[in-house]
Amino acid sequence: MKEDYYDILGISKSASDAEIKKAYRKMALKYHPDKNPDDKEAEDKFKKAAEAYEVLSNADKKARYDQFGHQAFEGGGGFNGGGMNMDDIFSQFGDIFGGAFGGGGFSGFGGGGRQRMVKGSNLRIRVTLSLEDIANGVEKKIKVKRKVQAEGTTYKTCGTCNGSGQVTRVTNTILGRMQTASPCQTCGGAGQTIDKKPADADAQGLKVAEETVSVKIPAGVVDGMQLKVNSKGNEAPGNGIAGDLLVAISEEEHPTLKREGDNLHYDMYVSLPDAVLGSSKEIDTVTGKVRIKIEAGVQSGKILRLRGKGIPNINGYGKGDLLVHVNVWTPKTLNKKQKEFFESMKDDEHFEPKPESSDKSFFEKVKDMFS
Ligand SMILES: [Zn+2]
Repeated sequence: MKEDYYDILGISKSASDAEIKKAYRKMALKYHPDKNPDDKEAEDKFKKAAEAYEVLSNADKKARYDQFGHQAFEGGGGFNGGGMNMDDIFSQFGDIFGGAFGGGGFSGFGGGGRQRMVKGSNLRIRVTLSLEDIANGVEKKIKVKRKVQAEGTTYKTCGTCNGSGQVTRVTNTILGRMQTASPCQTCGGAGQTIDKKPADADAQGLKVAEETVSVKIPAGVVDGMQLKVNSKGNEAPGNGIAGDLLVAISEEEHPTLKREGDNLHYDMYVSLPDAVLGSSKEIDTVTGKVRIKIEAGVQSGKILRLRGKGIPNINGYGKGDLLVHVNVWTPKTLNKKQKEFFESMKDDEHFEPKPESSDKSFFEKVKDMFS
C-alpha cells in the first residue's frame, strides 16, 4: 500500500500551495542526504517527500490525485510515481528554495559555483577472519587495486557549463515559464574536464594502482558486517573526492568453538572414569588453552559457564561467555574384566539414576541460561 502524499508531507487535504511548499521545504531540509550521510531511511523519506511534492505542487496532478489517488498515475498516466532519481529532486530544488542556498551550505548542489561534488566509486572487498582475530580485534593489511589520478593529468574549466557544473533550461509549462537546472552532461557536474593526460590514463585521467590499505577491525565483528574505510575507494577526477573502501567480514569456522552471538560453545568429552572420579581438562578458548576442573560425579549435559571468555560485544556491552558442554563418553567396547565389573554393578545402588533438581535436563538448563 503506497503512502498517502498528504500524510508523507504531514499536511491536510485542504492545505494551500504555500503550505504544501513549506511542508516540503521542511522535509527536504531535514532529510537531505548531506545532513544524513549513509542513512537509507532518511534517503527514502527524502525521495518520498520529493515525489509527494512533485504531484501536490502541480495543480493538474493534484486534482487527479485527489480524485483517483495513486491509481491516477498508474498505467500510462504520464507520471512515473515509482520514485524519482536524485538528479530530478535536486533540479526541482531551484524552484522551491530559490536563492535560499545561494551562499552554499550543502556540498551536494550549493557551495560557491553550485558545483556538485563528484565522488569516486566505492570498492568492495571481503576479508576472512579467524574467531581469534574477531575476539581480539585485528589490523589487516589488504592489497587493493584502486583508480587514482594519473600523474601528469591536468584539468580545465568545462566549456559547456563554464565551471558551474550545471546547465539551466527554461521550459514553458501550463503554470508558466519554469527554470530548471540539471547537472552538466559534458563534465558530469564536476565543472572541470581533462586538459592533458598521460597515455596510460583512462578517459577521466585515472589509472589503476595497487595499494596496501591498513584496516583496523574492531573486536566482536559479525559475519556479513561491512566496515567502511573512508576515501580508500576509487579516486574521482579533478577536485572530486575519493569513494570509500567497503570491507565485508567473513568468519572462518573454528575447529572446536561454535559462536552464538557473543557467546561461545565448546563440546567437552569426558571419559567415564574422569566423570566418576573427577579430573581436569584443557579446552580451547579464543585467548588460548585453559585448564578446567571436572568435579567427581559430573553429569553428562552439564554446562560449565566461563564468564567473559566469549566474544567482546561490538557495541561495547561487555564480553560474552564460553559455555562448556559436558559429554560423558560411554565406552563402546570392553574387555572381559571390565565387562564383569559392570555386570556386577547392575543392581548396585550407586549406579541407580537418582536425578536431583541440580541435574536438570539440558533443555531446561539452556532455557535458564538465556532467560
Ligand atoms: Zn560542465
